[in-house]
Amino acid sequence: MAIWNLGSINADMVYTMPHLPTAGETLAATELDQFLGGKGANMSVAAARAGSLAHHIGAVGPDGKWAVDRLTEYGVDTRHIAQIDVPTGHAIIAVDQQGENQIILYSGANQKIDQNSLKQALTQANAGDILVMQNETNLQVDAARMARGLGLKVCYAAAPFDEVAVQAVLPYLDFLILNQVEAAQLERSTGKTPDALGVSDVIMTLGARGARHIDGNTGVIHDIPALPVTAVDTTGAGDTFTGYILSGLDRGLPMVNAMAQANRAAALMVTRHGTADVIPDLKDVLDARF
Ligand code: AMP
Repeated sequence: MAIWNLGSINADMVYTMPHLPTAGETLAATELDQFLGGKGANMSVAAARAGSLAHHIGAVGPDGKWAVDRLTEYGVDTRHIAQIDVPTGHAIIAVDQQGENQIILYSGANQKIDQNSLKQALTQANAGDILVMQNETNLQVDAARMARGLGLKVCYAAAPFDEVAVQAVLPYLDFLILNQVEAAQLERSTGKTPDALGVSDVIMTLGARGARHIDGNTGVIHDIPALPVTAVDTTGAGDTFTGYILSGLDRGLPMVNAMAQANRAAALMVTRHGTADVIPDLKDVLDARF
């Protein structure tokens, strides 16, 4: 079995600043760090670290080779990442001395994934594999429809939330993953509670309160509490949770066990600074004492 991720790849450029620049101001940064980011890339790394075969489907620009190399280094299959003539998606993040930030997001190549590359990738998938998507690329509905036709299970992480995007993919989903804010937004926009969406499995991440599974067929709710850790950076915790839960299912774990593993991985993640580069592997997750 394998996981196919139609996902974003970003360069997170973090500039350390004496203060956040105001309109019209030119201000020198004191430091620049470049990290691999994008919800898609984070999920692929998490799934690979958890032990699954993770195929990333996406696009980068001529400036994106380092990101592809980094994904390969982390165990992700990058053969379905196209290099196109549009800049790699990136986030320009200014951080001041107090830790306040300003972020400029440019989706670039992530929104220019070509239909043929998607088709070529998915035709290599097997029935029973899982397709995962987030809302940072184009082609989600095409991918969901194609994957369903090929017998894959389809998962959508509704982030960043977009009412139109999520409603368009809803009819094709087996799994829907949301945080609390996204769940409230979805309920407002559809007028339906998560168990009434017609999706077999809805998973809500609840931050420091853990996570909830809602069985869309029976309405049965299963909650797991978060593990007791001191959170220092919650960036990427949700993506780690998603990569791990899908990998658990891909490795044949029942839903409750896959959730427990994802909860452990995400708890470890919030104790670490950084995103894709620090996602724990399965051994660390299983060995961790909380
Ligand atoms: P969130 O995206 O904030 O809902 O968080 C995703 C997952 O990360 C949660 O479902 C938890 O498993 C884990 N998590 C987030 N915040 C904490 C925390 N403060 N302590 C322990 N686990 C956390």
